[in-house]
Amino acid sequence: MIKYQLQCDKDHGFAGWFQSSEAFDKQVKRKLVDCPKCGSTKVRKALMAPNVSTSKKKTEITPAARAEIVKAMREVRAKVEENAEYVGPRFAEEARRIHYKETEEKGIYGEASLSEAKDLVEEGIDFMPLPVLPEDQN
Ligand SMILES: [Zn+2]
Repeated sequence: MIKYQLQCDKDHGFAGWFQSSEAFDKQVKRKLVDCPKCGSTKVRKALMAPNVSTSKKKTEITPAARAEIVKAMREVRAKVEENAEYVGPRFAEEARRIHYKETEEKGIYGEASLSEAKDLVEEGIDFMPLPVLPEDQN
């Protein structure tokens, strides 16, 4: 069962329980849902204001959507790995050398700690965080 916050065309708010979202649509279409205050059958789901205080609300990601995201991230990674040199934990150092033209300009990727990343930003050195893939988190 799903509880919907509903609203009639005169903006009376009320709640209703339905088997499913399809059941709700069907019942509204057949005018089986009416406003308890005015009897109007022009009923729709009320717009819910986002609840700011509970910002930790979990977003539901379907397995298909998740697979798409991971695939897109993998493509970004693959492109970087193809065109850039892996410098591992020396990333901040290398990025700095390139920025100050102490070495030839090239694409690099590697790891940087949060404080290293912060320093780079403060020095105006451009870099882009790479997406973390699920297999990295093992
Ligand atoms: Zn009403």
